[in-house]
Parts: sequence; structure tokens; C-alpha cells
Amino acid sequence: MSERRGDTVWLAELKRAPDALFSPVWRTRSFIDQSDAETPRSAHLDAAAIAGLTDDESEIIFLGYRSGVPYFSMDVSHLEEPESHPSLIGKGEFADIRDVSLFMPREEGAMLAYAKAIAYWHHTHRFCGRCGSPTVTEEAGHVRRCGNPECNTQHFPRTDSAVIMLVHRGDKVILARKKGWPEGRHSILAGFVEPGETLEGAVTREVLEEVGVPVTNVRYHSSQPWPFPGNLMLGYFAEALSDDLTVCDDELEHARWFTRDELMEEALAFRKQPTAVSIARRLLAEWVTGEEP
Ligand SMILES: [Zn+2]
Repeated sequence: MSERRGDTVWLAELKRAPDALFSPVWRTRSFIDQSDAETPRSAHLDAAAIAGLTDDESEIIFLGYRSGVPYFSMDVSHLEEPESHPSLIGKGEFADIRDVSLFMPREEGAMLAYAKAIAYWHHTHRFCGRCGSPTVTEEAGHVRRCGNPECNTQHFPRTDSAVIMLVHRGDKVILARKKGWPEGRHSILAGFVEPGETLEGAVTREVLEEVGVPVTNVRYHSSQPWPFPGNLMLGYFAEALSDDLTVCDDELEHARWFTRDELMEEALAFRKQPTAVSIARRLLAEWVTGEEP
């Protein structure tokens, strides 16, 4: 709905529509209805319920329509105890979508990721990066404009790219363990794309920097929004040119080769590996079984 985001009269009406739904975000957490433990759902408020939650309507973000229903999101981080606020009490709990999205309907997880990422962008762009003046929200929450008329710079929501790669050689893959992870958990290598770099270049550089292994045949697989806090994760397969592996990255506790049998036998791929919500799990499962999970 980008073509109508600038229409403030229409937006003001839409915010009061009886079917409009609002998704609150609190300090990186999403509002979840966990009354059915097996199927958490995103919890929403209607227009009447949000009245006492904000005194600045311009900070309410229009996400778009889903099945004809207008969806908005709003940051309620200023509340100390949001779950006991009269507008929110009994309607849900604030949870990390990493913990619940695996069990949610896909499109609800996608919308919560959208709301969470854009809330983070607003939180970190209150001031202009060019001149330091406060910024104001425009375009239904999709632009922040510098309040200094001489600067007047528009700032747009940004997504930072990260790559995650399954490095394989023959019948084995590299898994690593970051310091501080829960016991037994391993994952494939990942890192941020640097300025001026191609995605394939980032894969090659990161593997070399983390474990000292040169790779070739870097092949794109799929992507995943990764709003922790504002990234897009791009998944790759890469073929190692050497068996020699040395942990060179301080953030890694250790890394080693795992054979396909090891992954299957120890059920590492299913219990101790990254959960199915993550692209790492998807890449590993496809490599182990040869099929999309
Ligand atoms: Zn400025």
C-alpha cells in the first residue's frame, strides 16, 4: 500500500476502522496469544484498545492489508509493565518470535517479523545520521525525515544482509559452536556482508576468516528474514577446497567436520541443531536427506 501511505486523511480513518488490527511491539518482543500452547498466534488489539497506549499517532505504523484487514504496529516500549496495562491485560504476552514462530502460521510469523524489524529501525533512527537533528515519522511509518529544514534528509527502513553457509566436502560438513550457546548446540557458519562486497565474496571471506578453509562453488539456496534485529539472512552452499580446519574467530568455541552419518546417528540434525525455524536447519536437512524439509 505504499501508494497511499502519504494520504494522512485516509490513514486517520483507517486507524479508526472497526476491523483495523494493531500489533504492539515491546522492547524487541512481539505480542503473542499463547492460550493454545501448541499453536501460538499473534495477538492484536482493536482501535478502541489502543487509545490509551500512545499519545503520538504518527508513531503508529501501517503495515498493509492481509485478507482485507488493515494491520498496524506500534512500539509500546515506554510501558514498564505492558502486560498489566488495561489495554493489554489478558490479551497476550510479549515473547521472542524466535521461540514461538516455529509453531505459528507462516504468514503471522512473517507479519511479526515485519513489525519487529521496523520498530527496531524507528528506535535507532530518532536522530538524523547527517546532522544529528531529531527526525519525524512520515509515510505511515515508512520514512523518517530530518526536522532540520536545511537538511531535510529522508531516512528509509534498512535491512542489513548476512550470509549463512553450509560448507561441505565429500561426505562431511563444518559445524561450529559459538561461545555461550546452550550445551550441545552447533550450527553452520554465518557472518555479515561488508560494504562493497558481493554475497559470494562474503561467504568466501567469512569461511576463511572463521575456520581458515578456502571454498569454491558458492551456490545460493534461499533466504529468510532475520529481524534480530534487522537483517536478511541469505543461505548458501559452499564447497571446501581443503580438510584442514583451524578456528580463527574469537567468537567460536570450536568448529569441526561432521559426517552425514554422525548427523543422522546422533540425531544432531534434529535435536541439538538450530531449530527448524532457521535457515541453517533447512540447509542442513537438505544436505543430509537430499530433500527440502
Ligand atoms: Zn538532518
